[in-house]
Amino acid sequence: MGARTGSEYLEGLRQGNAEIWLGDERITDVTTHPALQGCARSMAALYDMQHTENLRDEMTYPSPTTGDPVGLSFITPRTHEDLQKRSAMMFNWSRFSGGMLGRSSDYINVEIMAAAAAADFYNQNDPRFGENARNYYEYARENDLCMTHTLVNPQSNRALTASGHPSADVALRIVDENADGMVVRGARILATLGPLADEIMVFPSTVLKAASDTNSFAFAFTIPCGTRGMKFICRESLAYGDSQVDHPLSSRFEEMDTIVVFDDVLVPWDRVFLKSDPNLCTRHFPETGCLAHMAQQVAIKNVCKTEFVLGIACSIAEALGSNEFQHVQEKIAECMVNLEVMKACLRASEADAKIDKWGVMAPDRAPLDAARNIFPKLYPRMIEILQLLSASSLMMIPPDSAMESPIAEDIDRYLAVANRDARSRIKLFRLAWDVACSAFAGRQVLYERFFFGDPVRMMSVLYHTYDKQPLIDRVDAFLTRNN
Ligand SMILES: Cc1cc2nc3c(=O)[nH]c(=O)nc-3n(C[C@H](O)[C@H](O)[C@H](O)COP(=O)(O)OP(=O)(O)OC[C@H]3O[C@@H](n4cnc5c(N)ncnc54)[C@H](O)[C@@H]3O)c2cc1C
Repeated sequence: MGARTGSEYLEGLRQGNAEIWLGDERITDVTTHPALQGCARSMAALYDMQHTENLRDEMTYPSPTTGDPVGLSFITPRTHEDLQKRSAMMFNWSRFSGGMLGRSSDYINVEIMAAAAAADFYNQNDPRFGENARNYYEYARENDLCMTHTLVNPQSNRALTASGHPSADVALRIVDENADGMVVRGARILATLGPLADEIMVFPSTVLKAASDTNSFAFAFTIPCGTRGMKFICRESLAYGDSQVDHPLSSRFEEMDTIVVFDDVLVPWDRVFLKSDPNLCTRHFPETGCLAHMAQQVAIKNVCKTEFVLGIACSIAEALGSNEFQHVQEKIAECMVNLEVMKACLRASEADAKIDKWGVMAPDRAPLDAARNIFPKLYPRMIEILQLLSASSLMMIPPDSAMESPIAEDIDRYLAVANRDARSRIKLFRLAWDVACSAFAGRQVLYERFFFGDPVRMMSVLYHTYDKQPLIDRVDAFLTRNN
């Protein structure tokens, strides 16, 4: 099939027929349901970009199997140029949503690419598993699958290991094995984009401790979202309406978060990558190289999101005529610094990319680790800045319908500001509202704080893996120096 169009993607979701629940309703068609259709359309637009005349070459590359165009985020980069091409492709997708669609499918496409390249890692567990990783990568690439992933068990009691849960059925675990595959039961929390994905990667958490009682919780597999026994339970939808003026972001980019329930789901052996090996599961993300590639996509998203917030901040100050106040300039300049820091991290990671032990050109981890660890702090602060710059303008934004009502004249007269008429002011501040105040905005902040993992433990991993000794030695040398 190769690179899909938007309508092929939407048709795939309809055919997939996954079991999706929103409140008491089972959603039968995610592509037309009010809670999900806006984001489904946006995802479809990304797939259409692969076929847009002037973008086709930037978005696709020839399949190593068929020669037909396939999505460029699937490429196995071997050179700096490959990495740059992939970066340009990711920028095209991310700028489409101002970085608000964190889970465009490139996020997972690079993970499955890296997994396939690291097939020998899975072979240590079982010689079939490496082959599974390679085959699945080819299948995903040739069918242009949209995937999500789920890594973490529910928060029953974080003081206990998964096997110590009061209810044995909370965390996802292997409950049986037979000639066809392994049977899993329990839940994973959470999977963003679950209802809009074709398949899900159920992979080990980065913080699974190696212990014999964790064997049945230690695995990695992929599975179609429509597999029998699987349910996706949605949170409340944040898409409060279709109007692109009133809800400019949530009407388009509500990517939805879900709990995934597995009721004795059979995972065929050819979809299993790791099984009953907590030690390999713990080492999976650090050793397969997946993280570096995913972190590149994340850094690109960070750049695009910061550009978008900065653009809004500048527009707000201009609109209100507050741009000559020094504290306003200082706050906007803070966003400018954030943008340049994110760009610098991304650029350094690409410039210092090296062939890794799996033969893949991998971006340098250190600047990407810096970017992903600092952004959870920078993003909430930038949202605070939008609130501080806007003040009541984030509230005094009547719905678009008011402009076609008897009060339109009042709105035109009283809501015009220094550099914008009332209508364009309302449009701008509805956007600022959706970035800084709405439920969609709140979820974006939470997303940035947690989606890549618990920030405290991510920093702790950085602390433990960072090469500190040369720095300590330098201090000691200074202390013993006579000049
Ligand atoms: C909007 C959003 C989207 C997400 N999308 C996805 C997704 O698509 N796929 C996916 O797999 N995950 C996703 N995540 C989940 C994310 O991986 C987790 O939120 C993150 O790993 C933290 O786990 P938790 O939420 O269970 O919190 P917990 O791990 O329970 O942490 C809660 C609090 O307890 C503290 N804590 C808990 N245990 C420890 C410990 N052992 N040591 C120190 N402190 C501890 C934490 O620091 C934190 O303050 C998403 C999260 C959000 C918010």
